[in-house]
Amino acid sequence: MELGHFVNGERVAGKSGRTGNIFNPATGEVIGQVALASAGELQEAVAVAEKAQVGWGATNPQRRARVLMRFVDLLHRDMDKLAETLSKEHGKTLPDAKGDVIRGLEVAEFCIGAPHLLKGEFTEGAGPGIDMYSMRQPLGVVAGITPFNFPAMIPMWKFCTAISAGNAFILKPSERNPTVPIMLAELMMEAGLPAGVLNVVNGDKEVVDAILDDPVIQAVGFVGSTPIAEYVYTRGCAAGKRVQCFGGAKNHMIIMPDADMDQAVDALVGAGYGAAGERCMAVSVAVPVGDETADRLVEKLAPRVEALKIGPYTAGDDVDFGPVITPEALTRIKGLVTSGVEQGAKLVVDGRDFKLQGYENGNFMGGCLFDHVTKDMDIYTQEIFGPVLSVVRAKTYDQAIDLPMSHEYGNGTAIFTRDGDTARDFTSRINVGMVGVNVPIPVPLAYHTFGGWKRSGFGDLNQHGPDGFKFYTRTKTVTARWPSGLKDGADFSIPTMK
Ligand code: NAD
Repeated sequence: MELGHFVNGERVAGKSGRTGNIFNPATGEVIGQVALASAGELQEAVAVAEKAQVGWGATNPQRRARVLMRFVDLLHRDMDKLAETLSKEHGKTLPDAKGDVIRGLEVAEFCIGAPHLLKGEFTEGAGPGIDMYSMRQPLGVVAGITPFNFPAMIPMWKFCTAISAGNAFILKPSERNPTVPIMLAELMMEAGLPAGVLNVVNGDKEVVDAILDDPVIQAVGFVGSTPIAEYVYTRGCAAGKRVQCFGGAKNHMIIMPDADMDQAVDALVGAGYGAAGERCMAVSVAVPVGDETADRLVEKLAPRVEALKIGPYTAGDDVDFGPVITPEALTRIKGLVTSGVEQGAKLVVDGRDFKLQGYENGNFMGGCLFDHVTKDMDIYTQEIFGPVLSVVRAKTYDQAIDLPMSHEYGNGTAIFTRDGDTARDFTSRINVGMVGVNVPIPVPLAYHTFGGWKRSGFGDLNQHGPDGFKFYTRTKTVTARWPSGLKDGADFSIPTMK
């Protein structure tokens, strides 16, 4: 089956003649093809969006918000179907796939408050007889380019915000798992969105470049790996667009000697190996402070990593994590593990040879645990994006905090301690965008904002929350003076929203 695009409220077939395979990562089977759009197909979708935006931008924000209200209900109605499709193309477990949908749904819920968020500011009497007000207006046609690892959540972060603010949207999802984004667009239509306001254009670099060069598209929100994030940022900014790009990560979790060790171990197992480590907020580096803490940690971690249950999403609750996304990713991750061994780290648990009967062509590997990792090793400097946790031993707290501080990435980090002073110092000094205190994956909720620092984020505003509305709107400020004596006739009925 070939999946095309979603333009002007309906599925349309691809016309470029180029397609990509969609795989089931658990079995290695090709389960479909996705059309890869040409620049011309993108331009057709942009023309549709430009036309649709005029009416949508003029629709009052409360009516726009009602579409999101119905969308939330429809997401709940179709949760099982969405999760099943997501797991089949991504590989993550069903509960984790539902989490993917729910974390996007929560942003849709937040966007129901768009009328409040778009209200603007007013100053009466800014001068003699002068009032001044500012309003947030939509940009027009805007776009989002999203990664494979959250095929529901990240598209929703982008399009719910942009659309509730009155923009029309072009979504370019990952070509690895494009089915759920089209299902989401169909649900938005069912919720009452006018045709053409949300369009999904599938494709690869060719369509991304076409988005970046298109003169009608005013803003691009990107999430993916750092080299592509930097490329999209540079090219999009050069074309005069508003651009925000979120990239890769190397998230450190510091374990102080006074931490509750069982709690820290639970946290590390979930945050390090959940979703096979394919989360931008996965913990990939554990930094115990002091050798005694490190010894206790590794002793407790090793059996837990050995006992991890790995399998296809169809195995239900009996699985902790599934396959990685592609055979290429599997080879790259295993190659990095081998480099770690060669560069002198101690591989305490080796998951490279993991095999699952009946799933020999799936992209499975077991959890790997390294101890005695040092700053110069490739497994430390690079984002592995697989089920591999590195323990870097620090002698002191200052040595520990220096590790995330001097790493090129700055997405998430956490500290586990019972000491308030240490936690406060850590949260204040650390140069990382999202920080957990005894919380391993500090993903901000929908009404806060999500974004990393350093080479994990390019641009100056975060995703979702109030920042998302700032990104997808622009401010207009009006200064008004009226000739005195000008009066409207009286209106005796109570003003209502029309
Ligand atoms: P990716 O960079 O390969 O792809 C992201 C998007 O860019 C996709 O839509 C893809 O089609 C497009 N793309 C890929 N190569 C391109 C090229 N050469 N030119 C133009 N466009 C191109 O990322 P991925 O493998 O899908 O996702 C994993 C990465 O995303 C990891 O690095 C992860 O840390 C990161 N991520 C970051 C966040 C965050 O908020 N910081 C969230 C999720 C994932």
